[in-house]
Amino acid sequence: MNIITHALIGWSAGVRLSTRASDIALISVASIVPDIDAFGAIIDIINGGEAFYFSTFHHKFGHCLLFCLLLLPVIYRLSHKNLRLTAWFAGVFHLHLFCDIVGARGPDGYAWPIYYLWPFSEDGVAWSVQWHVNAWPNILLTCLLIFDFLKQAALVGFTPLRLVSREADNVLVNTLQKRFGGHHEP
Ligand SMILES: [Zn+2]
Repeated sequence: MNIITHALIGWSAGVRLSTRASDIALISVASIVPDIDAFGAIIDIINGGEAFYFSTFHHKFGHCLLFCLLLLPVIYRLSHKNLRLTAWFAGVFHLHLFCDIVGARGPDGYAWPIYYLWPFSEDGVAWSVQWHVNAWPNILLTCLLIFDFLKQAALVGFTPLRLVSREADNVLVNTLQKRFGGHHEP
């Protein structure tokens, strides 16, 4: 699935696990961090050539069990030794992998297998009836997640916009609270 849908899934899970912005941010990161292995696309664009690095590394080191396991001690520290949140981080990380397996087929029809046991195995996990990344189930899911995001923003009292401007975020949240209800928590 695309990065926006992954981010919305993470946020939706995060606001249900905690009302603390740092916790919600951690769970949101869990939902997008596997796509760090798409970084090769930037190098390919700079090189102005074929998608060599993207094709070589995408769905490998970011979408594997080893990467998740290496992250968990860091997340445990960042979450102030919150074992529950660390476990949820692993769960949402794997939810990203599941979403990619069911609905991330490329425009050219390639299934982009998940190399879960990379670098120990080059066997990719793919689903034969995987739908395209821009197929209607993904569009519907994204629309529902956007609605949920706006509704939950009214309840928790902030959005990621707060990272850019607290004033703008307050205006947005106040508007959403008038529509959906909810109490602003400064
Ligand atoms: Zn992915």
